[in-house]
Amino acid sequence: MIIVMSKSASTDDVDAVTTRLKAEGFQVHLSQGVERTIIGVIGERTEEVMRLGAMQAVEQVVPVRRPYKLVSRDFHPENTVVRVGPVEFGTEKAVIIAGPCAVESREQVMESAAAVQRMGIPVLRGGAYKPRTSPYSFQGMAVEGLRILAEARDRYGLMVVTEAVDHESLRNVAEWADIVQIGARNMQNFELLKAVGQTGKPVLLKRGIAATIDEWLMAAEYIAAHGNPNIILCERGIRTYEQKTRNTLDLSAIPVIKQLCHLPIIIDPSHSTGQWNWVAPMARAGIAAGADGLIIEAHPNPQEALSDGPQSLNLPHLAELVTSLSAVAQAVGRTI
Ligand code: PEP
Ligand code: MN
Repeated sequence: MIIVMSKSASTDDVDAVTTRLKAEGFQVHLSQGVERTIIGVIGERTEEVMRLGAMQAVEQVVPVRRPYKLVSRDFHPENTVVRVGPVEFGTEKAVIIAGPCAVESREQVMESAAAVQRMGIPVLRGGAYKPRTSPYSFQGMAVEGLRILAEARDRYGLMVVTEAVDHESLRNVAEWADIVQIGARNMQNFELLKAVGQTGKPVLLKRGIAATIDEWLMAAEYIAAHGNPNIILCERGIRTYEQKTRNTLDLSAIPVIKQLCHLPIIIDPSHSTGQWNWVAPMARAGIAAGADGLIIEAHPNPQEALSDGPQSLNLPHLAELVTSLSAVAQAVGRTI
């Protein structure tokens, strides 16, 4: 349920409503917009909330039928801006994240970080724990990889995002990185979502390989319901019947999410296409469709990459892409 306060409602009017709700055992979520205050109410006892319609300065009490509450735009009409150090996701400036699929060595990360910084990209990616389809593939450098990422962050002034795959890696990632990535394979690992909620760290929540938008938003709701509103959604392609691409990039998820939800959404053109020369067109399409940013795999030497080489841009191609994105962003009233 949401309680819409009238434009002229005073702080005392709002306090009176929230105090009564809390006294009756409801969980209350306040959204103070420029125009008016909206009070989100979590709880099943609809009739008791409806009765508050008679209170002073209450304009309307509206039932919310969607299963997600905290992440829904009904509860929070204004866009959420997720702050990661000096970087903001969800403003008119789209944010680029780039770097290798996996941390492979100190040299590889430093070379990537130096290039990323030169290009004005503010966030470095790199997996230290890799959820690989095959148990025989490279599984990541774990804590040693996190140390390398942290060194790159300090040396080049970048923010760092890296994936947590279970509770133990989450503890380490929360300690060493700036953004915790929850990968497509773990989008419905509800215990992990609860734990990442408790860390309070900014989270990059990827869409599951076969997840509907509602399932994805429910996953975000888990994180928010456990105390963490700092969620960035990432569309990374879904499994369809098409086999020419690694996954099918669901660009329509951008306007749909923007309508349903107040959280920022970014696009991963690398895992969705699976091939480096299809990355730039889909990155540009993502920005044109209103994405708040991109996460792009790039490697100093993609032929030698231990993971996802075929979809990784080399560093000159990454630079070319970044340059070409400005005009697209400008055409849709954004900056890069
Ligand atoms: C990744 O970004 O490294 C990754 C494994 O992505 P996804 O979870 O989208 O497959
Ligand atoms: Mn990858």
